[in-house]
Amino acid sequence: MNLEEVDILFSQEQVKARVKELGQQITRDYQGQNLLVIGVLKGAFIFMADLIREINLPLEVDFISVSSYGASTVSSGEVRITKDLDHSVEGKSVLLVEDIVDTGLTLNYIEEIFKKRNPANVKICCLLDKPSRRRSPVAAEYVGFTIEDLFVVGYGLDYAGKYRNYPAVCILKPSVYI
Ligand code: 5GP
Repeated sequence: MNLEEVDILFSQEQVKARVKELGQQITRDYQGQNLLVIGVLKGAFIFMADLIREINLPLEVDFISVSSYGASTVSSGEVRITKDLDHSVEGKSVLLVEDIVDTGLTLNYIEEIFKKRNPANVKICCLLDKPSRRRSPVAAEYVGFTIEDLFVVGYGLDYAGKYRNYPAVCILKPSVYI
């Protein structure tokens, strides 16, 4: 990590400990269910990889990739699915894993699509939550950390495609983008 470019918000150890707690909570809550964990690419891939190894249950994984339609549709939260699921969600307990919930528009859209496909239930697990920015009523059942309105990178989150490999959750220093 280049500490001239970032400040650490949550260290690798803090993240690891919190992910472990989330995994334990999910393990307790999903006993006896047909669990399908779905990661929203790309940001969730590192969180998802660590999280599922803390869930002590039989489970399946799948991934979805989405992109916004552009400025005019950002407000409607309409997103384009660029990679859909490989498997059916019918009858499954779906746990959507996202890196961060910001306005909530993306997840709200994905959640609505999945609900039409007859899953047993759909819940959300996010590493980070910025509730002050919410524009769509998304409530995550499992939240790693609630944060202020900050732009963060690392642990899967990028800025201009970079920093995803930083093991901590970091705040970009203004000198990087000004
Ligand atoms: P939403 O539809 O909730 O506004 O968008 C969530 C998506 O916006 C996240 O999956 C992420 O890709 C991006 N995003 C929101 N806040 C941040 C942030 O602080 N840092 C980074 N790297 N991406 C963010």
